Amino acid sequence: MALNNRPFFQPAASNQPAASCQMAASPGGQTWFTEYHSPASGITVRAEKILFTGKSAFQEIVLFETEDYGRMLVLDGAIQTTERDEFVYHEMIVHVPLCAHPKPRRVLIVGGGDGGCVRETLRHPEVERVTLVEIDGMVVDLSRKFLPSIAGSLGDPRVEVRIEDGVRFVKNHKRAFDVIIVDSTDPVNMASPLTRTPFFRAAKEALAPGGIYACQSQGPVFEARGMRRIARTIRKVFPDAAHYLASVPTYPGGLWSFALASKGGKCPEVNEPRPLPKGVRTRYYTPDIHRAAFVLPAYVREIIG
Ligand code: SAM
Repeated sequence: MALNNRPFFQPAASNQPAASCQMAASPGGQTWFTEYHSPASGITVRAEKILFTGKSAFQEIVLFETEDYGRMLVLDGAIQTTERDEFVYHEMIVHVPLCAHPKPRRVLIVGGGDGGCVRETLRHPEVERVTLVEIDGMVVDLSRKFLPSIAGSLGDPRVEVRIEDGVRFVKNHKRAFDVIIVDSTDPVNMASPLTRTPFFRAAKEALAPGGIYACQSQGPVFEARGMRRIARTIRKVFPDAAHYLASVPTYPGGLWSFALASKGGKCPEVNEPRPLPKGVRTRYYTPDIHRAAFVLPAYVREIIG
């Protein structure tokens, strides 16, 4: 079959979220890690030095050094973050919603135990309080120890770190946050409810009037069905939700999507983004990238309907 007969969003094999991986020794004595994106392809990196392997109450955690990407955090076989390319994901999941809000003072981050979202959020001086709700304390502890360039802002006095389920936390808060960012693992196990209608409803109630919601919404290349389901579900609660894209080299397909929505109704992507605060230098996000990221290729528009 010619490859171009097969649209990205209908892989030949199963389209499970990427969760299988392999750590293998080569004959030369090197250790290679592969995250499979489908039964037939994946990303492989050489693990120079294993820093940690273990199991928390929620997931398998592996941390290792790589030559090209720096230190890499892997949860349940899926690469979460690397020192080399984390700036793309964290700048895009944070600065797009924060620059879409006129005055974000109280920010909630659900998941995000590596601390990258907190670091980027604190670059906005109008932010008075950041609440990080991460279900797995081991992710926070290991990130503090092994990923200081990412987790280094978790000790800031404006930050409250809570180790609990984000679903329960959000249900118990009303009109409390100007921006909610959901930086979660793939939508399986404890992260699955974060992409369902009751959670989106609770998040809308937890937002103050005019509040902005953003979340990662899977990749269009290997997780197209998951992306489509999230897009359809979020629109039941936030009818004008919009999606945007960023290139993350270590994520499946190299391309990742995010959703942005507003409690006020009209999706803020149509508004001109506020400029970044003076003196804040980013490596991926710019106001032009902000606007351009919402321009979706036709196959991605087809996925989200
Ligand atoms: N920035 C990286 C990315 O998106 O791939 C890292 C994401 S961060 C490590 C994802 C975190 O979400 C994990 O540490 C996981 O424990 C957390 N998480 C998953 N489900 C959650 C829930 N229901 N409540 C709070 N945190 C949750």
